[in-house]
Amino acid sequence: MAVLDVVLYPDAPLRDVATPYTKMGAELSQLTQDMIETMHAHDGVGLAGPQIGVAKRIFVLQEPDKEPMCFINPEILESEGEVFAEEGCLSMPRVYGQVPRATRVRVKALDASGTPFEVDALDFFARIIQHENDHLDGIMFPERMDILSREDIYRQWDDMRESILSHREL
Ligand SMILES: [Zn+2]
Repeated sequence: MAVLDVVLYPDAPLRDVATPYTKMGAELSQLTQDMIETMHAHDGVGLAGPQIGVAKRIFVLQEPDKEPMCFINPEILESEGEVFAEEGCLSMPRVYGQVPRATRVRVKALDASGTPFEVDALDFFARIIQHENDHLDGIMFPERMDILSREDIYRQWDDMRESILSHREL
């Protein structure tokens, strides 16, 4: 297992539309284990392929006190409701904003062994799925906000990114 480097916005491939994941078997199980370990190392609740430089349709997530889950080639089948809550992102660390999301989504995907499953997700669980699924389409959470909030978040992130990168170079 390995903790992978997390790509910071706006570096590639965060703004690209990811392609379907096709390599099942040992390679997949290594990738999902590394993604879960990376998510834990950064105290995250979700991590998508593009955030570790893999432009494939895959993400992992973990709700507090639950087992980690893997979603491969996910598809949101239904969504309903809307609620605002705070979100952050491991690709824009230490910047947070209020993001509107559906309160319930129904999703189908493959799990880490390549087996299809469907799940009904509510509230925080549904929010993580929508945030991670957006990464597969090159969408960062500020793009779900109104224009003024979005510009404010990107301004905050510009400063934060500069500070993070300057510390890394020391
Ligand atoms: Zn994110």
